[in-house]
Amino acid sequence: MYRAPVTEISHTLKNVVGLSTALDEGKFTDLSDDLIDAILEEAGKFASDEIAPLAAIGDSHGTPLNEGVVTMPPGWKKLYKDWIVGGWAALSGPQEYGGQGLPIMLNVATFEMWNSGSLAFGVGPTLTCGAVEAIETHASDELKEIYLDKLVSGEWTGTMNLTEPHAGSDLGTLRTRAEPVGDGSYRIFGQKIFITYGEHDLSENIIHLVLARLPDGPEGYRGLSLFLVPKNFVNEDGTIGARNDVFCSSIEHKLGIHASPTCTMIYGDGYAGDAPGAIGWLVGEENRGLSCMFTMMNNARLLVGIQGVAVGEAAYQQALDYANERRQGSAADYKGDGMAPIVHHADVQRNLLTMKALTGAARAICYACAHAIDLGNEGGAQEEGAKWRDRANLLTPIAKAFATDIGVEVASIGIQIHGGMGFIEETGAARLLRDARIAPIYEGTNGIQAIDLVTRKLPLVGGEAVAGYIAELREIAGDVQLSNRPEFGETGERLAAAFDALEQAKDWLLQQLSEKNRDQALAGATPFLRLFGLAAGGCYLAKSALQSEADNDFGRTVLARFFAENLLGETASLKSAIVDGADSLLQAADTALV
Ligand SMILES: Cc1cc2nc3c(=O)[nH]c(=O)nc-3n(C[C@H](O)[C@H](O)[C@H](O)COP(=O)(O)OP(=O)(O)OC[C@H]3O[C@@H](n4cnc5c(N)ncnc54)[C@H](O)[C@@H]3O)c2cc1C
Repeated sequence: MYRAPVTEISHTLKNVVGLSTALDEGKFTDLSDDLIDAILEEAGKFASDEIAPLAAIGDSHGTPLNEGVVTMPPGWKKLYKDWIVGGWAALSGPQEYGGQGLPIMLNVATFEMWNSGSLAFGVGPTLTCGAVEAIETHASDELKEIYLDKLVSGEWTGTMNLTEPHAGSDLGTLRTRAEPVGDGSYRIFGQKIFITYGEHDLSENIIHLVLARLPDGPEGYRGLSLFLVPKNFVNEDGTIGARNDVFCSSIEHKLGIHASPTCTMIYGDGYAGDAPGAIGWLVGEENRGLSCMFTMMNNARLLVGIQGVAVGEAAYQQALDYANERRQGSAADYKGDGMAPIVHHADVQRNLLTMKALTGAARAICYACAHAIDLGNEGGAQEEGAKWRDRANLLTPIAKAFATDIGVEVASIGIQIHGGMGFIEETGAARLLRDARIAPIYEGTNGIQAIDLVTRKLPLVGGEAVAGYIAELREIAGDVQLSNRPEFGETGERLAAAFDALEQAKDWLLQQLSEKNRDQALAGATPFLRLFGLAAGGCYLAKSALQSEADNDFGRTVLARFFAENLLGETASLKSAIVDGADSLLQAADTALV
């Protein structure tokens, strides 16, 4: 059963990505070391003791839909209630609306634990967090007054409605339409698919944020506006009023996250009040909906990245437990009776170490991204704030895509360690892989994240944002070499080689973009994102080791060395695929895809 890795999370936050330094510099004045540890400890208990035990029930029960009502699995309603009573929904919500205003970092850390307990549970609040941020940033004061405190507390939940049957990655052709009524409200008509937690019985209201097109809006992305459409209207005294004309017409049957209802939502199929259409209110300016939605999507992308870490951690723990119990064959270093526990076999050890090292690397990248968001918020309009916002923009696609790919990879290795039992549902290893598989797809597929990294994030500040980040990471690699600790083996040299590969690939990609060879650059986008994740992740593992007290190291130095000497070699072949492989890819696509 999952046990939250509180010590590791705390160490990563404080010593690897910089929370302790920020505290020393007088930032985040509401926080202290003790408070951070107390929050992580309590969250860890809730995730391990309350959420994780209900994950398998959620998976097997699913969320049946009957006459418009979606019933959550047994025990989940109480679980959600206990979660909001614990104040977890409000952790980093705005204080003006009842939130605790704590840094995003802590929220991301708790979300790692909720998602390790059950990804199907964690994904619901993920969207509510995004809704809070979008409403707080873009909505009118009136809408904020009516909706924010209940969303911040978690009493009501939020959704994000982009996808339509013909429009997923490309939202420019969305058809859902919004007609102004003339009194400040709009009538919304259309169908949205794949809407996470679009309908459920956990809360008495659901607040949908919906992208729709105004009648006179320009075509494409620039004609989209964002609307707040409540499931139930809210009376003037704050009580729940009449039902709006938005209904769930079906629930998807899917590979994983069975306890997360994935809904087809129909807006405006009947009447709300005395006229047809679901009633909604504009959030932000007309025709600026996509940029408002991006506020929500960037937040959500990091919280999806952490889902990959979460599943990786849960899969690693489960595989390690199994490897200690399951006995097969003999091993030179096993002197006990009978067959050796499989954890004594070098190949199983390789698999377990790969799981642990990749998960730790992805964790540090996600927390580094959260830290950059926090420092961007703290820094305001100053140059320092801008630097951190650029860093957050650079890291968001890497955090989302690298970490969620790792989640799938690690969960798959976890099954391998279980042998045949991994393929059998009752061990739970299969559920972790099934759950992990969605994360590289939603919130912008990982392919789209890679394109974002190469075409928008590399050119940030004329390439200085990425250059500055790589220079900082290189310093860590230099510190490893200077440390002269023999336990590091070749770590420093391997990191330096990985950064050489990263810089050569980065320069080549920027050159292709400047020469308008866009297809050449896009051909290398996905390998580049992985190369970036491996180099940065390996570096953070080394920093984690450098920042550990030698006699309380928790194996961090040997793990960093394992990563550098066993996994970082991939960076050379990734660089080669990017720089040398584009021509063959594009030529082969012309002739071989038949
Ligand atoms: C369980 C689940 C929950 C979801 N929750 C929500 C939700 O709450 N709200 C919501 O609005 N949506 C939600 N989605 C939808 C999800 O965000 C989309 O499925 C996703 O964005 C991909 O869109 P698509 O399925 O249309 O795939 P497509 O856009 O058709 O993509 C298919 C493939 O083509 C690739 N591709 C597409 N365009 C390009 C391009 N320009 N360049 C290179 N490659 C490209 C993609 O990377 C992908 O591999 C959910 C989906 C699922 C399955």
